Amino acid sequence: MKKRVGLLYGGKSAEHEVSLSTAAAVTKAINYDKYEVYPIFITLDGQWLRGPQITKPVESIEELQFKRNGSSPNNITEFILDQNTQAQFDVVFPLLHGTNGEDGTVQGLLEVLNFPYVGNGVLASAAGMDKVTMKQLFSVAGLNQVPYVHFIRKEWNQNQTELVEKCENELTWPMFVKPANLGSSVGISKASNREELIQAIQLAFQYDRKVLVEQGVKAREIEMAVLGNDAPKVSVAGEIKPMTEFYDYDSKYKDGSTALIIPAEITSEVESAMKDMAVRAFKILDCSGLVRSDFFVTDNNEVLINEVNTMPGFTPVSMYPLLWQHTGIEYPQLIDALIELAIERHTEKQ
Ligand code: ATP
Ligand code: MG
Ligand code: MG
Ligand code: MG
Repeated sequence: MKKRVGLLYGGKSAEHEVSLSTAAAVTKAINYDKYEVYPIFITLDGQWLRGPQITKPVESIEELQFKRNGSSPNNITEFILDQNTQAQFDVVFPLLHGTNGEDGTVQGLLEVLNFPYVGNGVLASAAGMDKVTMKQLFSVAGLNQVPYVHFIRKEWNQNQTELVEKCENELTWPMFVKPANLGSSVGISKASNREELIQAIQLAFQYDRKVLVEQGVKAREIEMAVLGNDAPKVSVAGEIKPMTEFYDYDSKYKDGSTALIIPAEITSEVESAMKDMAVRAFKILDCSGLVRSDFFVTDNNEVLINEVNTMPGFTPVSMYPLLWQHTGIEYPQLIDALIELAIERHTEKQ
């Protein structure tokens, strides 16, 4: 019997558009002999709309942005209460990035509804979204990472001078300032002096009430993809070469200037250190399904973990699927593997 897959995309998030392109790509690659595909579209203002079955690749993202039809549930409450919702899906495939999607909130809802779903659970998603929590767990796992300082808005408002001094005492220039809970480099800046640091912190506080200031490193940026549940597999490594000052929002999504080099040219020692760290990061956050681990590799081959992303970019030209393609798993098979892992995890939990 075919499995009924609920494709969950869109979202009340800055990464709404990215999610629509990902969903379109998945409709092109998914095997319709194995799956019945049903769309669940979250509008920008947060309505959950169920749409008619998708039986072939969609040609444009407009097809995925359907309007409410008379009988379909038109908000999240109706979605949850609708009896057909429970009956309709064998597995839900969330293709959402950022807050309200990658951070454990949607995962919690799917958990309560008792749906198997692709990817990370509540704990891993939430811990992976908060860069401070993530780093604290990395340090418990003994993973090498850059030094950092963190504080919340109230502390900043009360002790600005002391916190600036703390950064200057514990870190050296340049520093990277980040909102704790975001992705796609939104709200991140590089600061090379005290004045820039203060500005960067004020900017980061526009996005979150928690901010971290990291030691800047001069290093190559190399990523690995992890796939699995209890016995995760790691892909070959890929290097990112942004042409900009750092890998910012525009270089990720707009100017197309960033080069991806797969496999990355690294020594076998660096590769095995990264693999080991990628698995330890996956385990300490209790990840499942998929994760992309991002590393810094310095000129003298020191490996530092920067972060993990629990719902990495997932279009066919994104790093995560490309890394698996170079490791021998094509995009349609990757979709199969993720759906199987979701069902396996759900079954084991029962
Ligand atoms: P993603 O889209 O990967 O989720 P993100 O918003 O979580 O991104 P980071 O990966 O932490 O942000 O940082 C974005 C980019 O900023 C990095 O890819 C790198 O180019 C640069 N960067 C971040 N931290 C540092 C650092 N400590 N030293 C040097 N460069 C850094
Ligand atoms: Mg990230
Ligand atoms: Mg991200
Ligand atoms: Mg990153």
